[in-house]
Amino acid sequence: MKNRKLLMIPGPIEMDPAVLRAMGEITTSHVAPNFIESFGSSIELMRKIWFAPSGQPFIVSGSGTLAMDMAVCNLIEPNDNALVISTGYFGERYKNILATYGVNVTVLQASIGGTVPLDIIEQELASKKYKLVTITHVDTSTGVLNNPKPIAALAKKYKALSILDGVCATAGEITEQENWGIDVVLTGSQKAIGVPPGLALFVVSEKAMKVWKDRKSPVQNYYGSFDNWLPIMQAYEARKASYFGTPPVNLIRALEVSLRLIDKEGIKNRVQTHITYARAFRKAIKALQLELVPRNEKVAAHTMSAIYYPENINADQFRKDVSEYGVILAGGLHSEIKHLYFRIGHMGTINKSDLVATLSAIEYALKQQNYSFKLGSSIATFLKHI
Ligand code: PMP
Repeated sequence: MKNRKLLMIPGPIEMDPAVLRAMGEITTSHVAPNFIESFGSSIELMRKIWFAPSGQPFIVSGSGTLAMDMAVCNLIEPNDNALVISTGYFGERYKNILATYGVNVTVLQASIGGTVPLDIIEQELASKKYKLVTITHVDTSTGVLNNPKPIAALAKKYKALSILDGVCATAGEITEQENWGIDVVLTGSQKAIGVPPGLALFVVSEKAMKVWKDRKSPVQNYYGSFDNWLPIMQAYEARKASYFGTPPVNLIRALEVSLRLIDKEGIKNRVQTHITYARAFRKAIKALQLELVPRNEKVAAHTMSAIYYPENINADQFRKDVSEYGVILAGGLHSEIKHLYFRIGHMGTINKSDLVATLSAIEYALKQQNYSFKLGSSIATFLKHI
C-alpha cells in the first residue's frame, strides 16, 4: 500500500505539487537574475493578496514567531504601553514577546471559545495612551476567529497602531489591510499561504513605517531590525540584489509559485472556498454530536476546527486510530483544555475529498471505541452542505 498520510493539522499543510517542485529546483545564487525576479515578484504579490497597495512587505527567513517579533520590536520603545487582545495561546506569546522589550503590557483575555467584547476593548483603550494593540486573527489553540476590522478601527480612534497575527488566517480569512486600517498583518509560510515552514511574511502600513523612522531609541533586536531588512526588500523589488542575511532561495521560489496560484484563483474566491468548506465540515462534525471549542459559528475560524472529544473516549487511542486510517490531525494546545480536544486544519490547497477522508477517519476512530452514532452520518451531512 502507498505509505501516504493526509496532513490535516493547522500548519504545516498539504502543499500544491507545483510548490513542492519549486522546493526541489536546483538552488541558485541569491544574486542570480531569476532569483531576483522571484523575490521581487513575491513582494509585489504580497501587496495584492494582503490588500495593502501602499504597504511595505517583508519576507524574512524565520518562522511566524519572527514575524510577530519583528512587527513589534521595530515599532515599540521601552516603557510604551501595549494592549494584547488574547483568544488563547498565541495572545500569551505576544505578551511574552512584548515583555522582552521592556514594554508595559496589558492583556484582555477572552474566555475559552469566546472573544473579547468591543466595549471592553474600547474602555481599555480610553483608559491610557497605548502605542499598539495586537489581535490574533485565528488563535490556533482555540480555533476562535476575531473580526479585526472593528478592533483596528478602535485602535485608530485612540491613535494606537494595530498588529494582526494572521499566522493561521492570512489567505484563508478575508483581510483587507489597507481598507480596514491595520498597521501590520503578519503570517508564516506554512499555513494558508501554502509553502513549507521557514518564512516570516508581513506587510507594514505607511503610517507604521513612519513610526519606525521617527523612533527615539534604537531597535532592541539585531537580526529583526528594519534597518537591516528594509534596504533588502527595496533592492529586490527594484530587481537588484542586495545582502544582509542569505535568503532561503528555494523557499522564496516556492512562495512566488504559491502566491501566483492564490492570485490566479483570486484571493476572494479562495477565502470563500475556505468558508464553504469550514461550514460544511462543522455541520458534519455536529452530526456526530461532537462539540466545538469556539462558542458559536460566528467566532469559528474558516481555516481550522477545534473539537472536543466526546466523553469516555481515549484521546491517544483516537488519534492513533485516525492516523492508522491515514489522516494526521493535531492534539490540543491550550493549556487549560489540552487533553480535552483535537484540532484539524482545513486551509490552503485541501479539497472536498480531503475533508471526506478526514471525516471518515474520525468516524472510524470513534467506531473503534464503540461511540454511539450512525455510521456515515458526518459524510452524508457534509455532502448535503457542500
Ligand atoms: N500565531 C499563530 C496564530 C500561530 O498559529 C502560530 C503557529 N502555530 C504562530 C503565531 C507562530 O508561528 P511559528 O510556529 O511559525 O513560529
